[in-house]
Amino acid sequence: LNPGISETILSGDKLLISSEVNYVRVQVTKTETHTESIAYTSTNVNNANLYTGTKKVTTKGVNGVQQVTELVTYIDGTRVSSKEVSRVTLSEPVNEVIQIGTKAPVTGKGVSGGKVITTGGRFVWPAIGASSISSGYGGARRHGGIDIVKPGGGSTGLTIVAAASGTVTTATYHPSWGYYIVINHGNGLSTLYAHTLPGSFKVRVGQKVSAGQPIAKIGSSGNVTGPHLHFEVYVNGRRTNPMPYLGR
Ligand SMILES: [Zn+2]
Repeated sequence: LNPGISETILSGDKLLISSEVNYVRVQVTKTETHTESIAYTSTNVNNANLYTGTKKVTTKGVNGVQQVTELVTYIDGTRVSSKEVSRVTLSEPVNEVIQIGTKAPVTGKGVSGGKVITTGGRFVWPAIGASSISSGYGGARRHGGIDIVKPGGGSTGLTIVAAASGTVTTATYHPSWGYYIVINHGNGLSTLYAHTLPGSFKVRVGQKVSAGQPIAKIGSSGNVTGPHLHFEVYVNGRRTNPMPYLGR
């Protein structure tokens, strides 16, 4: 191996080898395939039926998949180069379509102490599946809110949602209101939801909620003759007619 060496190596001597050199390098070329995703694109479409500031995804975007084939060269097991041979689309991406609202918001207004307070947009109808008002605001009863029911019965258990985003300030029992919730929406505005189904609270005091978020179910707790949602709107602590806020 080392013909020039003149020293005799004796048993027990230590040899220091400074670096190892392979005399034969092994080059291998392999065909390899892998998949890559094809990113989907998004298209915005104006929609005059949606309120400004809201958007809705009508087609969900899905990435496509393509198969890439490469010739890969390895030397002594280390990848040193690659050359793309083919690229085949296995599935096309589905492009996302987003509807952008352009409809002008109906702004609810409340007047309190000479100060006009706007909600900055329409309230969400506070009950899902209950669309009728069985008793309006004010009148001979001096009704502090509106009573919402499902026409023809079956109100019990329907979902009550937050009319607007805000913070839950009350979630408790009252002999008249039964199990009721109050949400503070800021700007002096708050809403109250009464006679809910016992045990149906989905929120707790201090919790932030968004508009349309389920908070409880319609029931008949408290002083009632039948199941309904009693809904009140307060402006700076004073009851006001909820109807303008609901766009009705
Ligand atoms: Zn009522």
